[in-house]
Amino acid sequence: ALDTAAVADWIRRFRDVIAEKRDWLTELDSAIGDADHGANMARGMDAVVAKLDVGVPGTVDELLKTVGMTLVSSVGGASGPLYGTLFLRMGMTAGPVAELDGAGLAAALRAGLEGIVARGKAEAGDKTMFDAMAPAVDAFDAALAGGSDVGAASAAAAEAAAAGRDATEPLVARKGRASYLGERSAGHLDPGAASTTLLFETLAAASA
Ligand code: ADP
Ligand code: MG
Ligand code: MG
Repeated sequence: ALDTAAVADWIRRFRDVIAEKRDWLTELDSAIGDADHGANMARGMDAVVAKLDVGVPGTVDELLKTVGMTLVSSVGGASGPLYGTLFLRMGMTAGPVAELDGAGLAAALRAGLEGIVARGKAEAGDKTMFDAMAPAVDAFDAALAGGSDVGAASAAAAEAAAAGRDATEPLVARKGRASYLGERSAGHLDPGAASTTLLFETLAAASA
C-alpha cells in the first residue's frame, strides 16, 4: 500500500526525473510539436513540489488533487490539463484515505486514464500519452489479478508503458499539435508517451 508519504515520494521522484530528462522531452517535442514539453512538465512539477514543500496533505485525495490543480494552473499547453485531469480524477477516486492499497491504486489509475480520454478524446494508436498509459493501467490490473503486490504491479505497468511509448514511433499522429504534421509525424516517439512512461517508472521506484 502507498501512504501519503509514499505518494509524495512518487511525485518528487517524477519531478526529479522530469528535470533530468527535460532536454530529451523537449527534443522529442521539437521533432513533431513546438519544443516545449520538457519545459512544460518541468515548470508544472517544480510548482507541485514547491506546494508539497510547504506541507503534504494528510489524505491521499487531497494530495493528488493538489498535484492536479497545480498542474492545471501552472502548465499551458495540452499536457497541463491532461496530466492535471489524471491527478484530479485519481484523487476523486481515491477518496479521503490515509493510504492506497493495490485495488485503490488500480481504481484511481483507471479513473485517471478515463479522465484523460474524456478531456482529449484520444484513442489507441493516435500517438499520444494514451498509448503509454492505457497499456500501463491494463498491465497493473493484470498483475494485481495475478497476485502481484503494488511494487510488482507498478513494475509491470512501467514495462508496458515503455513498450507503448516505443510503439508510438512509427505512428502518424491523430491528436494534438503533432497531428498537424500528418505523415511527417511518423518516425518519432511521442513526447507525452515518453513523460507518461517516466511517471510509471517513478511509481515503480516509489512502491518497490
Ligand atoms: P502542446 O502540444 O500544447 O505544446 P505539450 O508539448 O506539453 O503540449 O504536450 C504534448 C503531448 O500532449 C503530446 O505528445 C501528446 O502525448 C499529448 N496530447 C496532445 N493532445 C492530446 C490528446 N487530445 N489526448 C491525449 N494526449 C494528448
Ligand atoms: Mg509542445
Ligand atoms: Mg506548446
